[in-house]
Amino acid sequence: MNKRNSVVAGIDTGSTAVKVTLYDGDTMQSWLGPTGWNPGEVSAALLGQACQSWGLDKQNLAGVVGTGYGRMMLTFLTKALTEISCHAKGAAYLWPGVCTVIDIGGQDAKAIQVDANGKVLNFVMNDKCAAGTGRFLQVTANALGLDVAQLGAIECPPGQPICNVNSMCTVFAESEVIGLLHQGFSREAIVSALYRSIARRIATMVSDVGPQPPMLFTGGVAQNRGLCNALEEKFQMPVYVPDQAVFAGAIGAALYAWENINHKHEPLKKCAF
Ligand code: ADP
Repeated sequence: MNKRNSVVAGIDTGSTAVKVTLYDGDTMQSWLGPTGWNPGEVSAALLGQACQSWGLDKQNLAGVVGTGYGRMMLTFLTKALTEISCHAKGAAYLWPGVCTVIDIGGQDAKAIQVDANGKVLNFVMNDKCAAGTGRFLQVTANALGLDVAQLGAIECPPGQPICNVNSMCTVFAESEVIGLLHQGFSREAIVSALYRSIARRIATMVSDVGPQPPMLFTGGVAQNRGLCNALEEKFQMPVYVPDQAVFAGAIGAALYAWENINHKHEPLKKCAF
């Protein structure tokens, strides 16, 4: 096969969103859709849509590497890789020279230390409880009558009366938020307290891998500017958010697929659509 015409795909089947990236060694493009209740079908359908928009039959993909929470449900993969490997690879592509990656998705949070090639040097992952994840933000945003996008748009100007959210358990934190509302604290003050609470939790994880600049924030939650500011305040260093932050895992998977077809690793088995 002529390598120049080869196209590979990376799929990150997350708890909340499926992300697909196509790559031909030159052009890279990504798509996103909600995971829904059938991650396997949704992932195959999104991959089909992506291929269609590139005028491709998905049978002709040179490789499909899958990652994310639901990767084991994808029967058509040529290879499945861990989220840590793919997020690290994707982050190093999105931000060359990055040393520390914070990735916050729907149901997990990761801190990864990477080398210049996106190889994982060290990592910590919380996927056991929703504390400090997108789910935590979603539940607490709901208690404030907001969705996550509206929450992210709330400005938290300095000088607000200070309140704290101390519970790490999502259920207790939701009750705490309701309690603070009833005590008369503004939404801005409570949102600011939520961000500080998540930043504390993330800082504990990051301190285990060593917070080396430059630091990158990826995953769907990275779209929340207020949380990014809270992380910068906590670490006392810039925390960068690339445009394609939510696609880091899928991009990393696509890059691994590309390396595979170029024989840097073992060859991929044939896609089984
Ligand atoms: P997963 O891979 O687990 O599906 P993602 O990295 O796709 O996770 O991130 C999903 C999370 O991103 C959601 O739980 C949601 O909380 C958060 N999110 C999505 N859109 C926004 C937004 N506009 N602002 C802030 N957070 C967002």
